[in-house]
Amino acid sequence: MPLPALFNFRLTMGEQQLLRIQNALLKFRDTSPHEYSIAIRQYLVVPEDPELQAIQVLYYWHKNWPQRQNIRFFLYPFVRKRLEASVLLKPAIEAAPDSIICTMALEAIQDFEAILDFRRQYIAHKKEQRRLLKNSREMYYTVLSIRNGERCAKCRSKKRKLVLDHILPISRGGLTEILNLQLLCEKCNGKKRDNVNLVDN
Ligand SMILES: [Zn+2]
Repeated sequence: MPLPALFNFRLTMGEQQLLRIQNALLKFRDTSPHEYSIAIRQYLVVPEDPELQAIQVLYYWHKNWPQRQNIRFFLYPFVRKRLEASVLLKPAIEAAPDSIICTMALEAIQDFEAILDFRRQYIAHKKEQRRLLKNSREMYYTVLSIRNGERCAKCRSKKRKLVLDHILPISRGGLTEILNLQLLCEKCNGKKRDNVNLVDN
């Protein structure tokens, strides 16, 4: 089954940028350890200097690099707040004199914008697919039990209570439609793991 378009989501910043950013942050720390530590500790306190703002953005990007494949991480409200705080710094950083730090920060912000956009689409997708299931639960149940019999699609048991299950989970882009639904007993449904990871990158 092809992955839904929603999940064709790629970040533009890669390993190479990570190294460049690490070097830039190290260099900045050497020249101004105090300001660097302010930037990284008080992320939500916006400094006046656009270059320090850029450092904050890069620090945040750098810090969360290992999380870049994890959808759940990006769904946390505190992550959204910080991504939005970074995006708000964009005009000031754009207006600053050209510097490597600022250019890299703008690239990072581009990624943050992509993540925020993905996040919005992802939440809307989940909401809509759950709504569809809620509205037509009985219809899907009836159609599936006529098609496959009123039994678990995995263990074939007829004894336990059956629930509707998305073959490709909603959280991985699955849709509420008959081809993506099956009846599972509560036991088999409980065993099914709902892994959520960005597929790519
Ligand atoms: Zn079963």
